[in-house]
Amino acid sequence: MVDLQTQYQKIKPQVDEAMNRVVDSAAFINGPEVKSFQAELEDYLAVQHVIPCANGTDALQIAMMGLGLKPGDEVITATFTYVATAEVIALLQLKPVLVDVDPETYTLDPEKVREAVTPRTKAIVPVHLFGQCADMDALRAIAREHHLHIVEDTAQAIGADFYARNGEVGKAGTLGDVGATSFFPSKNLGCYGDGGALFTNDDELAAKIRMVANHGQSRRYYHDRVGVNSRLDSLQAAVLRQKLPHLDAYNAARRKAADFYDQALGDLPQLQTPVRSSLSSHVFHQYTLRIKDETINRDELIAYLKEKEIPAMIYYPVALHMQKAYRDERYDPGHFPVTERLVDTVFSLPMHTELSQDQQAYITETIINYLK
Ligand SMILES: *Cc1c(COP(=O)(O)O)cnc(C)c1O
Repeated sequence: MVDLQTQYQKIKPQVDEAMNRVVDSAAFINGPEVKSFQAELEDYLAVQHVIPCANGTDALQIAMMGLGLKPGDEVITATFTYVATAEVIALLQLKPVLVDVDPETYTLDPEKVREAVTPRTKAIVPVHLFGQCADMDALRAIAREHHLHIVEDTAQAIGADFYARNGEVGKAGTLGDVGATSFFPSKNLGCYGDGGALFTNDDELAAKIRMVANHGQSRRYYHDRVGVNSRLDSLQAAVLRQKLPHLDAYNAARRKAADFYDQALGDLPQLQTPVRSSLSSHVFHQYTLRIKDETINRDELIAYLKEKEIPAMIYYPVALHMQKAYRDERYDPGHFPVTERLVDTVFSLPMHTELSQDQQAYITETIINYLK
């Protein structure tokens, strides 16, 4: 599904040197690499504050703690997402309110969000799923109207541009009150272990977030609020500093690979290729197809691809509201028709920066052969 080895080989001398620099300096925690990476990412995103942390799940949790959300507060998010989004809501004893997604972009459906707002709603968490932004225009309008916070889960969309209807352009993760991202190795900007970060243009919120991420500490050994320990270590920052200058090229390589898949598979009546939103560039964290023809058995198709040594994955096979840990009697089967169809029909093909045309031709020809 990914090829991190080949990508590393292309930047090995620079990455190795950067990592050696950290080891030689022994500044493993909060060293100069972390501060430089923070500043460079602020520049890239054109955002006032980047606060690095230990992983994307922590970033989401710290965002909600920084906003001062209290047990019982309702937080609206998509039921078609990775579990981390809802996990932190539940951990903080907030109330996850799940809604369905748009049938074309698979991101939060603004109309469904509007219907889910109650007087107890405090925040909306759009997930920029698979690499393109949710309709932030519509979500920001709802948030303004009801005085809600927006926490963007941008773990899959770093580098994507949102094209607002008023002509403004902004980077994913900088469009709400706070953005949360992950540098997990397979993400579009991945390190060589765990990593994450928060983004905000709000000075006061940034100070709170910094405090929460550092044991709630205002100055050393003075703890003003309950916090967590969540840091990006210097080795990971050093790797990320070497990769950040390539992020746009990495995302362009993913887009080019997606264009190839689109071209080869776009005319097949049995498959729906990814629909590109007019509101966002697509950075293709995943290339996710949907089976439109009910006579095609997804498991058999995936087994056939495996036999031909082509990996394929299902993101995600179970909607959040159907997971054991998040089962909620408010949500009967049939409650979220779009998501329920998606979990039964989507599958994702290999997508990374190092795909060759030969590999892609083999993958698409194998699929076309199967569907014949
Ligand atoms: C990867 C991911 C996360 C969590 O990131 P970690 O760094 O693995 O904690 C959160 N949300 C989404 C949508 C993700 O894809």
